[in-house]
Amino acid sequence: MTQQERLAEAMRLLGDLVAFPSVSVDGNREVSKYLERCLRGAGARIWTEADATGTKLNLFATIGPDAPGGVILSGHTDVVPVADQPWSTDPFTLTERAGRLYGRGTCDMKGFVAACVAMAPEFARADLQVPVHFAFTYDEEIGCFGAQALTASLVARGLRPAAAIIGEPTMMQLVDGHKGCFEYTTWITGREGHGSAPDLGVNAVEYGALFILKLVELRARLKEMAPADCPFDPPHSTINPGVLTGGQAHNVIPGKARIDWEMRPVQASDADFVKAELAQLVETLLPEMRAVDPAADIRTEIVAEVAGLERVHQNRARDLVVELTGANAPGLVPFGTEAGLFQAIGIPSVICGPGSIAQAHKPDEYLEIEQLEQCLGFLSRLIGRLERGPV
Ligand SMILES: [Zn+2]
Repeated sequence: MTQQERLAEAMRLLGDLVAFPSVSVDGNREVSKYLERCLRGAGARIWTEADATGTKLNLFATIGPDAPGGVILSGHTDVVPVADQPWSTDPFTLTERAGRLYGRGTCDMKGFVAACVAMAPEFARADLQVPVHFAFTYDEEIGCFGAQALTASLVARGLRPAAAIIGEPTMMQLVDGHKGCFEYTTWITGREGHGSAPDLGVNAVEYGALFILKLVELRARLKEMAPADCPFDPPHSTINPGVLTGGQAHNVIPGKARIDWEMRPVQASDADFVKAELAQLVETLLPEMRAVDPAADIRTEIVAEVAGLERVHQNRARDLVVELTGANAPGLVPFGTEAGLFQAIGIPSVICGPGSIAQAHKPDEYLEIEQLEQCLGFLSRLIGRLERGPV
């Protein structure tokens, strides 16, 4: 295929992908089914897995020898909503204008997916020494739930490719690290009563305040626990109590309180530390709360836990992308991706994909055609690399 033909094919596919309005909450089933048909046509071996509702599908496709190792190209096919955004084009119709391709998901990240699928027939015709795998997941935008299920399935199936490249938008720059993003809601259940008799109630707001004080204390401890040469800004894990609600009136003991909070760990052990400390706090507080009302409770719900991508000394995926792009220094990004999940199951991972995160999630999201071309060139060099031998 000539470069021109490749580009035309990738743009045609991107148009089809954008036309599926696969907003996370509505599911990505239809777009996954479409990709499955395309990849089967190219001769890929495929398995899919649905979530409990059946509206969301992970797709895992393999091309090349039935051998261990190889490279995963990972992307998500869900997109963020367009409601209340002032678009100047139809977000679900790919529109080309002045070298840019407009549409929801063009840069985040159906452009990368379209490039992979456009190259699938070339991967299939090549004499690959190790396989290439396409991992296209659901629900990245609301907590990487698809990638969590998919990485668990890789472990269960005993699959451990040698490297994973996540095609989130980095302008095709090499990125080998980001913090984790863990979000929680903590519910405090007390016992209501008259404000004049505090001992007869369990003041949920007071216990909420104690919980927040602990978060603030832990934040200071995390600063001290920062690893040496931590590359992130700021160079340590952080905690933010974001929302505190509870209570109704001056003279009523509040029976309920709610805290929305997050932490951004630079290393997995920091998150474990925070969780253990909070569990201990709750264990200390519950007996006195329950002495007044046995139904009193402090319960923390996980909203999302997107694992960080830790910059590690040895990273085979980084070596591979350096080789393919000539990148000199890898960068960091301030947003979370699926990369940390692959790293957590022992697969060296990096991020490198077309388009800019500056356009993601915005009205008039676009991908520059030049970025799509760069991505196709990158994949074509990857084919050559996998023909030469294992990574
Ligand atoms: Zn994304």
